[in-house]
Amino acid sequence: MSETLLPRAAATPIVIVGHVDHGKSTLIGRLLHDTDSLPEGRVAQIIESSRKRGLQVEWSFLLDSLQIERDQGVTVDSTRIPFHLGTRQFVIVDAPGHRQFLRNMITGAADAEAAVLVIDAAEGAQEQTRRHAMLLRLIGIRHVIVLMNKVDLLDYDAERIAACERATGALLDKLGITAALFVPASAREGDNIAARSERMAWYTGPTLTEALDAVPAPSSRADLPLRLPVQDVYRFDNRRYVVGRIERGRVRVGDPLVIGSHGTVARVAAIESWHTAPQISAVAGQSVALVLEPDVIPDRGDLLHPPGDAPVRAARIRTRLFWLRQEPLRVGESLRLRLSTAEHAVTVVSIDSVVKLDDLTEHPSDHVPPEGFAEITLAASEAILFDPFLPGTTDGRGVLVDRHQRIVGGAPLIGPAQIAEGARAIHPTGSTLSPWDRAQARGHRGAVFWLTGLSGSGKSTLARGAETALFAEGIDVAVLDGDTLRAGLCADLGFSDADRRENIRRAASVARIMAETGQVVIVALISPLAADRAMAREIVGEGFEDVFVDTSLDQCEARDPKGLYAAARAGRITGFTGIDAPYEPPANPDLRLATGAEATGETIARLVRHITGAVVLADAARRRS
Ligand code: GDP
Repeated sequence: MSETLLPRAAATPIVIVGHVDHGKSTLIGRLLHDTDSLPEGRVAQIIESSRKRGLQVEWSFLLDSLQIERDQGVTVDSTRIPFHLGTRQFVIVDAPGHRQFLRNMITGAADAEAAVLVIDAAEGAQEQTRRHAMLLRLIGIRHVIVLMNKVDLLDYDAERIAACERATGALLDKLGITAALFVPASAREGDNIAARSERMAWYTGPTLTEALDAVPAPSSRADLPLRLPVQDVYRFDNRRYVVGRIERGRVRVGDPLVIGSHGTVARVAAIESWHTAPQISAVAGQSVALVLEPDVIPDRGDLLHPPGDAPVRAARIRTRLFWLRQEPLRVGESLRLRLSTAEHAVTVVSIDSVVKLDDLTEHPSDHVPPEGFAEITLAASEAILFDPFLPGTTDGRGVLVDRHQRIVGGAPLIGPAQIAEGARAIHPTGSTLSPWDRAQARGHRGAVFWLTGLSGSGKSTLARGAETALFAEGIDVAVLDGDTLRAGLCADLGFSDADRRENIRRAASVARIMAETGQVVIVALISPLAADRAMAREIVGEGFEDVFVDTSLDQCEARDPKGLYAAARAGRITGFTGIDAPYEPPANPDLRLATGAEATGETIARLVRHITGAVVLADAARRRS
């Protein structure tokens, strides 16, 4: 049996971030060249292709050519570019394409020890500078070097460079990031990258490579209490092996360990490791196979920890968020939270604040926009075991994925969410059936068609007519009609603005649930106010369409099927839409049905065509025809 084998000194991972065109690619090319990290012949190639285009040496071409190789699969690891300073190895965590880069930042770059924030000194911080700086804070990079690039454009002037340093420092201050260093440099000319610039004799600080060399080596996580997320459990030769990579701490034969999910304690009987003899101990960074006594069976995703040092256990978790999906995130959405080897179904129960990117202030909001930063609260149906986010470790590094396992957000877990006094904790659960599964089974998507219009405009008639026709076409359809709702679910509500709003809120919430289960829902509600309809759209989210049943007040009053206009004119009912309460017609409805000129059957057919066009899946449409 051997003592612990320490992992070999690994390369120090760094990330290089910055606004587009501020010189990130040029810097990478320059760094690789100036540190002799390029394959033979590559420099000649760059000089040649720059010359052909009549340019000075364009170092960013180097990254382009590396990227082409990566696309062709020539380079083995497509997202890590190695270089060295003397004997010390570094690796630049990179990714082709903006979105892939951001995704990589919240996953691949999670281990980066340091970041170089590239700023065009002439232009100053721009939108992506702020976004990337926020990301650095989000993923907890502790060592930030600011490279004030393109100082050649400022004629290497100390005064103007100092102004850039002050402005950038103030920006980082707002984020609570303390830059380790500000280096004035020109990536294109090579000033202060690997060689000290003679054109800035006034600058006595380190060059970029000196600054990188001073980055502390990856800190040892071996001295922290043990965390071993279970990757798998294998049976082999009549023994059971619990397999995983030690995230922090160390484990020794004989140690008692708690199996997080059940709280049972087991003892480590043996530690096996690949390619080595059985060991008596192992440390952070190593993958091990443990034999436990008694032979308990944890699940994948379970967390093993020492008896005296348990992680936090909570079902509601406060979370920072970097949102990557194209569509905004809204309250009520169900997602999956990936936490090392575990995956939990979670629901967004509140969006607590969203960062405004222009000035980095935090505001309340009901959604998180694409590439937005926020603080949100997640709820799971049962308690999750986690360590709050700790920069420099893997603790609390949650990633949100959708049902197709696509990464949609970076989500460091800050801690358990406090439940407001008097409030009851609610834990909505998400379905394990995806909308896609349901749509496939039915041949159509779930959606909500929200019919708005004056009383007597024909909403209910159109809704019921469309319901019958759609049903005949095999579409699973339901109508939520204003009067029907008021007879039951909303029987307690009157017609004040607040009650109308509540009526709409309830209808939208029910419609959403139905649409999520794959039904086509036609809502027929006067819903006179634009703001209330916007709220309904917000509640339903994807798949909401508003349909304006555009019948003039005169026509409605002439029809007056329920005698309500007459009663309102006579003052027997008050607050009647169109008479003494406002109706705000939708400015840009998804569909407008002017009922005046055509037969009702024609209008219904138009509505049905619109709905089938929106919900029926393409292959199902082919089968139908
Ligand atoms: P990226 O989008 O951040 O990767 O930016 P690039 O590296 O592609 O650079 C954008 C442009 O800025 C290119 O035309 C570069 O030649 C130019 N550039 C990069 N670094 C410098 C510099 O130090 N000085 C000057 N004058 N131009 C630079």
